Amino acid sequence: MSSPNQYAMQDPLKQYPQPKFDEQPQGAPGLASRMDPKPDHGEESYKGFGRLAGRKALVTGADSGIGRAVAIAFAREGADVILNYLPTEESDAREVVTLIEQAGRKAVAMPGDIGQESFCVDLVTNGAAALGGLDILVNVAGKQTAVESIEELTTEQFEQTFRTNVYAMFWLCKLAIPVMPPGGTIINTTSIQAYQPSPTLLDYASTKAAEVAFTHALAKQVAGKGIRVNAVAPGPVWTPLQPSGGQPQPKIPDFGAQVPLKRPGQPAELAPIYVLLASQESSFVTGEIYGVTGGNHLP
Ligand code: NAD
Ligand code: MG
Repeated sequence: MSSPNQYAMQDPLKQYPQPKFDEQPQGAPGLASRMDPKPDHGEESYKGFGRLAGRKALVTGADSGIGRAVAIAFAREGADVILNYLPTEESDAREVVTLIEQAGRKAVAMPGDIGQESFCVDLVTNGAAALGGLDILVNVAGKQTAVESIEELTTEQFEQTFRTNVYAMFWLCKLAIPVMPPGGTIINTTSIQAYQPSPTLLDYASTKAAEVAFTHALAKQVAGKGIRVNAVAPGPVWTPLQPSGGQPQPKIPDFGAQVPLKRPGQPAELAPIYVLLASQESSFVTGEIYGVTGGNHLP
């Protein structure tokens, strides 16, 4: 997609593609490179203003979607970035590494399954060693697989969804906090599904609600260390998560049509909120859930 200037005043309804879209099934976790239209991760548009100069950040799910937009924005704001993703997403991740390096920052690619505690230990330990510290943890990676009925929802899927969305967040926060200096920030990625769950997303919506409570509690727990913890709760966003099983395929053509702004958000529209929450500009904000929903507000 040719990227609109995200700083020029314009009609938000028309800023990005509106439904209808083509059905476009692909296997999970899906690749951004196979989507039509291509998501806008701010590749051509995001401008940095030095708001994260010299920071060291770890971003999970950094290959595509919201995580890719965050990684690009953070690098252009002056941060070095550790990128985590699944090994099958290497082709998407390589594009992000190139963009970070073009911004003049360091990119440390660390593919692996964050549903395994031992890998989370490697990710934080080796990632922080590679960058010489860790100031920002952004938990973006997530698993979402729509299933029509509770009878068909397997224990295996239920567990995988919780391991990826909840356990990994717990492990990564637990490992990162002792390494972070005062001023460090954690940003989790929950969803409007925590508040308005779809019937087909029983396991996923439950994990997103757990992330909200975890964010509130952890923020209070670590405030005394000078570490802030917030979360972003997106509405529908045009990323590979959705056509790779996150929605039943027949819902893809009208994806986003149900919000007041009548279209899905693009990853580039999420990144500025993560930058704000990561930067010192949000110094008095902690324990908050920040909605970016196209108008179907929280809770
Ligand atoms: P995405 O598919 O681009 O990103 C999800 C990423 O999660 C994948 O790229 C993959 O790298 C990572 N991942 C999945 N399982 C993993 C595992 N076991 N180990 C390591 N990495 C793993 O889609 P996205 O929409 O950008 O998703 C990012 C986050 O946004 C998720 O937490 C999702 O719940 C949340 N979210 C998305 C939407 C939406 O409509 N797209 C709405 C609300 C919330
Ligand atoms: Mg991906």
